[in-house]
Amino acid sequence: MSKPIILTGIRSNGELTLGNYLGAMLPLARLQARHAGEYQVNMFVPDLHSFTTPIDHEDLYANTIRNLKMFIASGLNTTQKDTFIYRQSFIPAHAELTWILDCFVYFGELSRMTQFKEKSENQETVSVGLFNYPVLMAADILLYGAKYVPVGEDQRQHLELVRDLAIRMNHQFSENLFIVPEAWDEQLKFAGLNKGVRIRSLKNPDKKMSKSISDPAGTILLSDDPDEAAKKVMSATTDSIGQINYDFTTQPGISNILQIISLLSERSLDEVLAKWQGSTSYGDLKQEAAGLVRDFLIDFQNKVSQIEESLIDEKLLRDEAAMRQVAEAKLLEVQQMVGLRRK
Ligand code: ATP
Ligand code: MG
Repeated sequence: MSKPIILTGIRSNGELTLGNYLGAMLPLARLQARHAGEYQVNMFVPDLHSFTTPIDHEDLYANTIRNLKMFIASGLNTTQKDTFIYRQSFIPAHAELTWILDCFVYFGELSRMTQFKEKSENQETVSVGLFNYPVLMAADILLYGAKYVPVGEDQRQHLELVRDLAIRMNHQFSENLFIVPEAWDEQLKFAGLNKGVRIRSLKNPDKKMSKSISDPAGTILLSDDPDEAAKKVMSATTDSIGQINYDFTTQPGISNILQIISLLSERSLDEVLAKWQGSTSYGDLKQEAAGLVRDFLIDFQNKVSQIEESLIDEKLLRDEAAMRQVAEAKLLEVQQMVGLRRK
């Protein structure tokens, strides 16, 4: 029996943020460490996803490699057997399966995706790629039969769409066609979380921190100068309630800071709240968060600087060859099922 698969990816359409780190990179590294040997880990860069919204194409290739370095710096052990890193566009089956899946996903379903609504809002033009990208994401997951997909809370709806699509096609063609990824609650349990992680913008805490929205004062980049990043935390938007409580509806700014403290210091939220709940000193709370962010960035950037690019290149070549075979085998099965190939 092959091992169950944990799979995740981050688009290389901008510089990675603290939200990416806490929502996707750290959870993956932790899962890998916790389950060493029991699972296969697929960490890929969805480079084809990277220009659903406009980017600087001159920088895409280099950015992809930079992102991989950051994954390694966040603790992903790429020397571990059964851990694979690859770029989506180097495995053509992703794009080919997407076309087939496209014909089994409904327009109405994709139109309901809140990320699409949010990202297309107020844009002069909206690419078909932005609309369609959850289907490419479905191909990314279903080609390898991934059971666990550690992603931030913002991807929950897309993951549910992938499940619906897999179940629909299994029902029509064969119950063995696709491994259906686990439901959201199971994903959380597996990651040891009781709710999804959504880091908010420090300036607009009603919105998530995002690498593609220009919000420099609200976004901590993993490449930010540590002292500048600490200043951003110190000037984070809070509220006029004047007392610390964990409630994203009434105090999103303060709750965001509490969440960042908990995740960066590896203490449970209850432990953090035991110290801060009811306190009136927003400044002291920010000081603690700012110190944690600064120390984290110093350590993280030091790790990034020590990673050798040539090792990444070699590993990519090997892993892309291996994953191409896996993906092509699954694509062939699907092609047979839909009648494009002889069974
Ligand atoms: P973009 O604005 O380009 O979509 P992004 O920051 O959302 O940028 P993605 O590449 O879409 O990044 O997502 C990569 C991973 O990071 C996903 O698992 C996503 O859930 C997670 N993630 C992104 N933003 C946050 C956030 N603010 N909090 C927690 N997780 C996040
Ligand atoms: Mg996103």
